[in-house]
Formats: sequence, structure tokens, C-alpha cells
Amino acid sequence: MQNDSVIVSSTVYSGPMTHDSQSRPLVLGDGRISGYLSIALGVLSTLGVLCFRFPDLLTTPSLRAGYDLDWMRILLGAGMLFSVGFGLLTFILGRQRKLGAIGVLLTLLAFWLGGAGVQVGPRYDIRTYIGLDWFILDLLMSAIVFIFLEKIMPRAREQAVLRPDFWHDARYFAFNHLAIGIFLFVGTILVPSLFSWSINAGLQAWFRDLPGVVQFVTVLVLADLIEYAIHRSMHEIPALWRFHAVHHSVEHMDWLAGSRLHILEPLVTRAMVMLPAFILGAEPGPMLAYVVFAGFQAGLIHANVGVNFGPLEHLFATPRYHHWHHSSDREAIDVNYAAHLPFIDRLFGTHHLPAERWPERYGVVGDPLPKGMLRQFAYPFRRKPKTG
Ligand SMILES: [Zn+2]
Ligand SMILES: [Zn+2]
Repeated sequence: MQNDSVIVSSTVYSGPMTHDSQSRPLVLGDGRISGYLSIALGVLSTLGVLCFRFPDLLTTPSLRAGYDLDWMRILLGAGMLFSVGFGLLTFILGRQRKLGAIGVLLTLLAFWLGGAGVQVGPRYDIRTYIGLDWFILDLLMSAIVFIFLEKIMPRAREQAVLRPDFWHDARYFAFNHLAIGIFLFVGTILVPSLFSWSINAGLQAWFRDLPGVVQFVTVLVLADLIEYAIHRSMHEIPALWRFHAVHHSVEHMDWLAGSRLHILEPLVTRAMVMLPAFILGAEPGPMLAYVVFAGFQAGLIHANVGVNFGPLEHLFATPRYHHWHHSSDREAIDVNYAAHLPFIDRLFGTHHLPAERWPERYGVVGDPLPKGMLRQFAYPFRRKPKTG
């Protein structure tokens, strides 16, 4: 699809490359790292206490079933402790004390609401919920793992953690996690019920007898074939491209960038890629392995991580492989659709991975998309501007 845009517009949009003050690289000792960490942990601690107080409203039933409450309390207590610690550090450094004070006040709020010893709140007989627990836990895990990797092995060394559009993509991250109930409903109830006719007990019994690793690989390959077909369709069918263009409007790649997706895209894609596992009746172990693997890889391939994966680059999608997919360089238009396994792109002639090179720039070719999550959600439904 992007090829057409090149022909029509003959201009390549390289996007704003300016760095505002927020995007200045964080420097050890200037107080901003400890200040921001104190505030972030203060906010997450307060939200964590609320999850304890209103479990039916603010937590995800399928995750809640697996929680060890004692460990959750330890995690919450550690978050509060570190928030206060980082807040105090800003006072010791004598810099950004305002940030540290806000962080400590937020932790005091969490403490006032009950702290790590908070009683689990009353149960309501409701089915609607917000996945606040999923947001907190995945944000903590992803930020710790990926920011660490981005700092020790950066692709763009000069890119700040709080790069341009960081907060824009953070809103997407929050929305995608808080709305997990909608995604789970569509992916595990609605779509499987539409395909219940395809269930075959004999096939499922045979598949479940296979070793777990074989089930995992089968689910991974079939899911990626579906992902490839949907992804390529979104690039080649103009009406679908307008939805997918939201994802390609990213101009600064990092662990958060992959969250920028029009809501309808993950609703359809995530449900469809889970179908093979549902039809084959994969066991919970291989299913969980697939979900964890896919989730980690989705964060990693967008991350600002410049590590050389060597021969593994030919086996699994890596940051360099998917960065080429996001590139607006002419040589990289409409390539590397697979989410997990590059051999699928080789199979269909869309593989592009020049030796050791990285793309020059990222973003959509042609007219830039509007800024703001809601405007981008509305973008595919707006009348297409005349291109002349
Ligand atoms: Zn794409
Ligand atoms: Zn992507």
C-alpha cells in the first residue's frame, strides 16, 4: 500500500525530529531519573491499593485466579518503599525536589488508602471490569526489562527514554491494557463461538497427545501464517491500510511504540491468531508459552535495541527485522510482515534484511496522520483527502 503513496505524493514524510525539553536524555545525578521513578512508583502503588480494594471492578478475572496475594502485597510494599527512596534521593541530590515530593505524596496516599496491608474489598456480582492489574504488572515488567535492554544495547544511542510522542504511545499502552476485557471477550468467547463448527474431538485428542514443544511450534507457525495474511492485507487493501497506518505513524521506535494500534486492529488480529490453538485444542502449557513468547517478542521487535542476534535473525523476528518493516525508506516498503518467523516472508517473497544495516527513518510515506489517540481512531473513517 505504501508503494502507491510514493507514486501519488512523490514526497517522503520524514516526520519531526525535534527534541523538546522533556525528550532531553536523562542524565545520572540531575534528579529527573529518581524524580520520575518516584512519581511512577507512587502512581502505580496507589493504583495497586485500589486493585486490592475493588478487585471485581479493577482486576482481570483470569489473572486474578493465578495471583498469590502475599507476593502481590510484597510487590506493592516494595513499590511504595522504592517510591519514597527515590523521592528522598531527589532531596539528597538537591535537584528536582518537586518531582520527589510529588512521588512521596502519592505514596502517602497509597499508604492512607491501606498500603500493603490493605484488606481485599467486597465482591460485586458484575461482569464488567477494567484491567488495571494487567496495566500495572505489564508496565512494571516491560519498563524494567526493555528500558534496561535499550540502555545497555541501544540502536539509537541518542534517543531519550521520554522521546517525542512517548506520552502519546503511553496512552495507547494504558488503553490497550485497561480494555483487556474487550479483547478477551472477542478473542476467547466471541470469535471461538463463531468457529465452534470446526471443532473435531478426534483431531484435538491427537494434537493433545503430541509433545508440548511440538504443540507450541505448531501453534506459533499457524498463528504467524494468519498474522502474515492479515498484516499483508492491511498493507495492500487501501481501506484496511488506513487502520494499519496508525501503527506505521510511529517515528521513534522503542518498547512502547508497538502499542500504537488502532483499536480494531488488535481486536481482529489477536482473536484470529488464537484460532489455531482453539481449533486444535492446545494444552494450557503450550498455550501459555505461546502467549508469553508472542507478548515478549512484540515488545522486543519494536524496542530501541541494537543487539546483533547473528544466525538467530533468520529464525526469529528481531528488532532489526521489524524496524525495517516500520521504515519509510524506499527499499523497505511493504516487507517483513511476519510477527514471529521470518521464513514466512522468505516463502512469499517479502523478506528484506540487508546485512548489518538498519533503516534510516521511520513513519508513513505521504500525508502524516493526525496527532492524538482519538483522532487516530477516527482517522480511517474520515473522508480521504484528495491527493491530486
Ligand atoms: Zn505493517
Ligand atoms: Zn510494528
